[in-house]
Amino acid sequence: MKSKIQYPPELVKEDEDETLVQSQHWALSHGLCMLDDGEKISQTSHAPFTLFPTPFPKSGFEEALSVQKAFNELYFSVSRNNEWLENVVSELAGFDPDFTGKLFDIHLKVKKASGPQQPLSAGLFRSDYIVSDKDQIKQVEFNTVSVSFGALSSRVSELHDYLISNGVYGIEYPLQSVPVSPALKELANSLAQVHNEYIKTSLSDESSPASILMIVQPNERNIFDQRLLEYELNQTHSIFTHRVTLTEAQQKTCLIEENRLIHQQSGDEISVIYYRSGYSPGDYFSEKEWENRLFLECSYAIKCPSVTTQLAGTKKVQQLLTERAVINKLAPKITERDVDALLNAFVAIHPLDDQTPEGRHARTLAFDHPQHYVLKPQREGGGNNIYKENIPGFLTSTPKTNWSAYILMELINPPEMKNKILRNGKVHEGDIVSELGVFGGVLWDNTTGECLMNKQDGWLLRTKLQSSDEGGVAAGFGCIDGVYLV
Ligand code: ADP
Ligand code: MG
Repeated sequence: MKSKIQYPPELVKEDEDETLVQSQHWALSHGLCMLDDGEKISQTSHAPFTLFPTPFPKSGFEEALSVQKAFNELYFSVSRNNEWLENVVSELAGFDPDFTGKLFDIHLKVKKASGPQQPLSAGLFRSDYIVSDKDQIKQVEFNTVSVSFGALSSRVSELHDYLISNGVYGIEYPLQSVPVSPALKELANSLAQVHNEYIKTSLSDESSPASILMIVQPNERNIFDQRLLEYELNQTHSIFTHRVTLTEAQQKTCLIEENRLIHQQSGDEISVIYYRSGYSPGDYFSEKEWENRLFLECSYAIKCPSVTTQLAGTKKVQQLLTERAVINKLAPKITERDVDALLNAFVAIHPLDDQTPEGRHARTLAFDHPQHYVLKPQREGGGNNIYKENIPGFLTSTPKTNWSAYILMELINPPEMKNKILRNGKVHEGDIVSELGVFGGVLWDNTTGECLMNKQDGWLLRTKLQSSDEGGVAAGFGCIDGVYLV
């Protein structure tokens, strides 16, 4: 950022009080909300958000948006390359038989399944970044399954925009410095395109009504983020979405001829299976959920994402992609300029095996300089990483033969920043860290390799107080934010 700016702005007490009231009313009126308890659907609060948009370097922001399509292409190329991906994942599966192993098993079974197989595959991706001390964006991780907060990110930036344009803060921001994230509209546009492509290539002669199937967690607290997307699909694209949990899938849907998936109650044919669940072991309560995942994967509906694309999102794959030669081999269509941009977005990520010189070197780094690193297993959804000084002790207590299941990633050190976070009506103030997520929508043909859609779908800024290592919003450490471009 150009210079150290005083942030957040000091408001006179009257203006701050007014901002607090206005922002909470706006949030509750526009679905910027979360359920207090997933079992009680009438008790809701505003989602945690920052009172002000957080300063973010304009050049890094633009870079993150512009590199998204190259990342989309890279990951769909990985997902299509069975030989390469199977080689990587089969090893991980051995270390983690209960989760990665089971997903991999489904991937292998789907390949052998009988009946017509859907050639098209879709993804709503999100690439997450932290700004480095040099003001560059550096990738934290790439998510290929169940990316959330698209809708609420649009809402938060609309809220900040509302407060600014109506002079509620009592201060001014430079024109166009607080952009509104189009994620809600764009993610819905992407899903609608996938849906329409299914209908265009339909196997059935009669035009039966089709809808989207969202696979959800039971008692989801972040329900409004999902509902807003459903309503957008419905209002703008006249597409209806059915919600079922992984547990209910075979009870509420069935397969008819040609593996077409039917929603039982409505009789609708399912065009797209959109996963907002199924990304972590906790989503599979018993064998039933695994059976249901396999059942869904074998249907002719377009999966968003397929189990294979989900596996392409493992952290081990991210580590392997930090090499130019690997990118060139997997995605030869990406231009050299874009490959440069992809490589620029990575920090050092090391393997921890004992077969390669790099892996052996990283094994010493982890003990000699742990303060510069985060150790990550192949898991999603927060709360799984081991940080800094905790790394040596953790590794010592883990059998050496299992170390290859982890990656060692250089820590990104963001510039100091402050903001005010509003949670349950209370203001928390202090040093913060923000993570930018850029959404991508992509649809491709696995058999021909043709890309039918590749879009950048807006962004999300998540912010947490620096005192906590992880920034999960639903988990209670973080909040949703908007960018103030400087
Ligand atoms: P998950 O799949 O659990 O979301 P992440 O890789 O996104 O895993 O890590 C979780 C959180 O840990 C991130 O949101 C970020 O706050 C922190 N984190 C992860 N990697 C780094 C890194 N290299 N530097 C700084 N913080 C990191
Ligand atoms: Mg993450």
